[in-house]
Amino acid sequence: MKKTLAFIIALAMVFCLSLAVADGDRVTATGKGQGIDGDVVVKIEADQNKIYSVEVVEQNETPGIGSVAVEKLPDAIVEANSLLVDSISGATVTSVAITTAVREALTSAGLDPAAFENEIAAPEAPAEKENVTLDCDIVIVGAGGAGLTAAVRANQEGAKVLVLEKMAMVGGNSLKASGGMNCAGTKFQEAQGITDSGVQEFIEDTMNGGHQMNDLALVTTMAENSAAAVEWLESIGAPLPKVAATGGTTHKYLHSPEDGSPVGSYLVAKLNEQAQKQGIEIMLNTTATEIRMQDGAAVGVKAEDAVHEYTINAKAVILASGGFGSNFELMTSFNPSLANAVTTNHPGATGDGILMAEAVGAATVDMDQIQLHPTVYQATSMLVSEKMRSLGAILVNQEGKRFTNDLSTRDAVSAAELEQTGGYAYIIFDQNLVDHNKSAKEYIEKGMAASGETYEDLAKNMGLEGDAVAAFVSTMETWNKAVADGNDAEFGRNNGMDDDLSTAPFYAIQIAPGIHHTMGGVKIDTNTEVINTKGEVIPGLYAAGEVTGGVHGGNRIGGNAVCDFVVFGRIAGQQAAAYATQ
Ligand code: ADP
Repeated sequence: MKKTLAFIIALAMVFCLSLAVADGDRVTATGKGQGIDGDVVVKIEADQNKIYSVEVVEQNETPGIGSVAVEKLPDAIVEANSLLVDSISGATVTSVAITTAVREALTSAGLDPAAFENEIAAPEAPAEKENVTLDCDIVIVGAGGAGLTAAVRANQEGAKVLVLEKMAMVGGNSLKASGGMNCAGTKFQEAQGITDSGVQEFIEDTMNGGHQMNDLALVTTMAENSAAAVEWLESIGAPLPKVAATGGTTHKYLHSPEDGSPVGSYLVAKLNEQAQKQGIEIMLNTTATEIRMQDGAAVGVKAEDAVHEYTINAKAVILASGGFGSNFELMTSFNPSLANAVTTNHPGATGDGILMAEAVGAATVDMDQIQLHPTVYQATSMLVSEKMRSLGAILVNQEGKRFTNDLSTRDAVSAAELEQTGGYAYIIFDQNLVDHNKSAKEYIEKGMAASGETYEDLAKNMGLEGDAVAAFVSTMETWNKAVADGNDAEFGRNNGMDDDLSTAPFYAIQIAPGIHHTMGGVKIDTNTEVINTKGEVIPGLYAAGEVTGGVHGGNRIGGNAVCDFVVFGRIAGQQAAAYATQ
């Protein structure tokens, strides 16, 4: 009886499937692949020989990164009639999710994905690229946080701006900033009764965090202009009203979006939107290769894309091309011990702007100061935000014990971690923190965290053994008491202690240090003018953001990269516009 039933069901399934395939040979089907934040679901229409359409019907990918793959890859698959299309650079996870989903859809429709795995011939490179000359007031190299800020600001001053971005998307490393923006003396701090986080304290914390190697004039400029910068962001529709503490600071400076979103993707999306509103042209997939000079002044750049060589004439050039945390050759020339480290940087962080500036005589500072971030999930190089510790998370080692002030400066915490068994640690948090932080939810959804309903369960699920389990339970109890007393007698932590870690379930992510920020770069003055090796200004050449050195000294404090790019991006935009339109 059972066998007959199974036979009838199998027959029915074959009948349905053949119906699907036989319907004029074209079928529609859906499939899914694992994206950055949940499933990416596609709907396809295809037959044995051709994929007629691919539509992404469900996705929650990062705006500005994964969304670029969502926008571009379906058409690329249809056009090439192949699953072997190139991933969108910088959005590999989403690209793979889309091709996986198409594969699944083909299979579920009874089609063979192998029929769509023909190699795609590389587009024939033109024998000679077409030469194109473009004119503008200001050309900006890089469309990360600094470049977009400078573009919007310069255009507000009436300058005609052209932005070049070598990647297929805007955002650079800025897009990955997960914490917030440090600012001092803001109305948001005032509204929350934070009166002890003034400009002077911000300068001191930044200088101490950077081991006093920072350029004090630049730090002072950043701190003094930070409140105006955060108000300017509000004026373009990007308010950062929430305030918390960050690693290495005595007070609360870290400003972030109301809804707990990561600051980088939020700001890049808002700045990009504003740039579009103002009609600013951003040329994607276009790499600046050289700064053009005339009579000692910068007068444009040379650039290229797949089929063009551009000569861009401009009255001023702003370098906003970011750091070099993805250029291992350059990094290891300053610090060979980094050869095997993972990096949190996007693939475009190759230091082009620094090299181009050096070629026209610019001085550089602190090139050997390369920051390791202490909480990087090693399997995917994903950064676990410092904000997690600001909101109360702690670090424990394999023995179930805390080992340092978890919110000390990044270099100090990284060094302490490397001394622990295996050179790694765990970041511990609870459900209350997850309820207030979107990134924490994302880490859990991505399967990065172990969890447990009790401290003991969590310890076991983390893989702690023997005495370490009891030690972990005791560590958590001691920590919750320290929070209640407002006194961390063990390690002297003095911030990020508003909430204890007592709401089950509890979570742990195994982390270790990874390359994060290159503090060194092009030397600038407080007007963002680039300085040459003789200590003189190079007329017409400005730089802002991670391409510059001096702001962060020997160690950048969390939240200062965003402050750096907004404050100095604004100054660069304003100064270059004044120079270009004089
Ligand atoms: P910042 O925080 O200083 O803005 P980001 O890393 O966010 O730094 O942004 C720098 C941007 O500059 C990135 O999007 C990167 O791809 C882009 N970039 C780097 N080199 C070049 C180049 N040679 N031409 C055009 N864009 C570049």
